[in-house]
Amino acid sequence: MTVLVFLDPAFPAGRLADATAPALLATDQGATRGDGIFESLLAIDAKPRKVAAHLDRLASSARVMGLDIPAPDAWLRAIGTALDAFAAARADSAAGSAAGPDEVVVKLIATRGDEGANSPTAWVQASAPSPAARAQREKGLDVLLLDRGYDSAVAERAPWLLLGAKTLSYAVNMAALRYAHAQGADDVIFTSTDGRVLEGPTSSVLLAHISDDGGLPVKRLITPAQDSGILPGTTQGALFAAARAAGWELGYGPVVPADLMDADAVWLISSIRLLAPVNRIDGTEVGTAAVRAQLTAELSALLAGTE
Ligand code: PLP
Repeated sequence: MTVLVFLDPAFPAGRLADATAPALLATDQGATRGDGIFESLLAIDAKPRKVAAHLDRLASSARVMGLDIPAPDAWLRAIGTALDAFAAARADSAAGSAAGPDEVVVKLIATRGDEGANSPTAWVQASAPSPAARAQREKGLDVLLLDRGYDSAVAERAPWLLLGAKTLSYAVNMAALRYAHAQGADDVIFTSTDGRVLEGPTSSVLLAHISDDGGLPVKRLITPAQDSGILPGTTQGALFAAARAAGWELGYGPVVPADLMDADAVWLISSIRLLAPVNRIDGTEVGTAAVRAQLTAELSALLAGTE
């Protein structure tokens, strides 16, 4: 079940559309060129999480792309309409009796619009999360390190690669995931040609080091430097703020693969799956199952307490 709400000046709260019927022109540049941007966020109990951070990143992606998208309040109204319609449709369907917390995936999408029209197409989509996201939080992931083929300074040198923007051109990211699945792994951590750890195809990378300072535990969370051509993760940002308040030390890369192998725990972290612990990288176990489970529980509780 998917709910679609188009942002349309003639409909201030957004225009509901039948998600089972054609709704886009075949000449929309989002379809013909992957020329557009998106955000995926999680709503829990009808409340979209980190919505300001997602709208900020959407605006920043739009700036990088030279795309003129609707204002934040239009997106907020359309998100509200989509969540209301989704809740009503779910209450009417058998899926309404599904167990577990009430989670909805909300996607915000804006394309460059029809060829030649210079008018973006923008819509909000609400749907149920895939069971895989929840399973990954619980069971963890086996991950492959894959070369992304760029060095870690390319974003600044070649801004037209749009590396810091969340564009609709995710075919490469999906191909990397299919490659990993074909090798029996669950997910991917990209590395740069100069040997830096970057991000997952749909996630940020996070690692923890626990040390001892004269009997006092020192807990440190590290993520790759944001200027290495990666997407700034809203979940990583929210978790860092909560972890700092809880006494964790924070650090931003450079991270190299050996740092991952030395870590007490590594996670792939994103808005929908939240914290998914990495069990193995290229077949080698990361830390121990007990420490991974304990740190995942501690950080998941911190993340759950964020907005
Ligand atoms: N990096 C990439 C390439 C992503 O696609 C995503 C999310 O989809 C992330 C990082 C994590 O971002 P967020 O935590 O805002 O979901």
